[in-house]
Amino acid sequence: MMRKPCIAANWKMNKTAAETRAFLNDFIPLVADANNVDIVIAPPFTSLCAAAELLSDSPIHLAAQNLFYEEKGAYTGEIAPYMLTDAGCSHVIIGHSERRHYFKETDEVLNRKTIIAGKHELKVIFCIGESLEEREAGKTFDVLNREICEGLKDVPAAGITVAYEPIWAIGTGKTATTEQAQEAHHYIRERLAALYGAAAGEIRILYGGSVTADNVDALMSCNDVDGALVGGASLKPDIFSRIVKFKAKL
Ligand code: PEP
Repeated sequence: MMRKPCIAANWKMNKTAAETRAFLNDFIPLVADANNVDIVIAPPFTSLCAAAELLSDSPIHLAAQNLFYEEKGAYTGEIAPYMLTDAGCSHVIIGHSERRHYFKETDEVLNRKTIIAGKHELKVIFCIGESLEEREAGKTFDVLNREICEGLKDVPAAGITVAYEPIWAIGTGKTATTEQAQEAHHYIRERLAALYGAAAGEIRILYGGSVTADNVDALMSCNDVDGALVGGASLKPDIFSRIVKFKAKL
């Protein structure tokens, strides 16, 4: 099964609209010849429209970092799915560990968000991953299984990308080894197969957690690693373009 690789940037709470434009003006030409990979960029909400304008003639996909699970109404401070599609988004990140941790987003909430995203034809990058404590207690697979089963309950396989992001590797400079990444990705692939049958073979599983230009080639050489979700190293056009142009699988 050939899955097209996907490299996604999660800018988190970084970059104004002007900084977003400056990044894209540098980045777009740097990746003009990267045709064999899907590139996704997730700026903060306030930069989406600026990004959409610059990306209108480009194959680079625009993602939001979050959305709310209702259609519209009295939910002060929240952003509805139709607002994201209107702003030019084709993708949305759901379930990032920072949302789960700081904003107490539960599996049930994330499931509702994933379902409504699908209704609006937003492709979802659904994040899962264990903490250091959970890994050390031997609970990694239990956590991944729960996050998949509850988060993707009643969610069709089409439009889903999973991102495996071990929490201990996010922003810490501590990357999972290729063995740890492959082991977790393989387990995730099995759970997706239990949920979706043959369609699971088409779901991309990205690795996230301190991905850099120096370690991306090794991570991408793992059988079940289909791409990367990149935080810190996605903020600089030259570094992120190098990640996008990882050494292709043989
Ligand atoms: C992330 O938060 O999605 C992430 C992987 O961050 P970093 O690359 O900075 O570890």
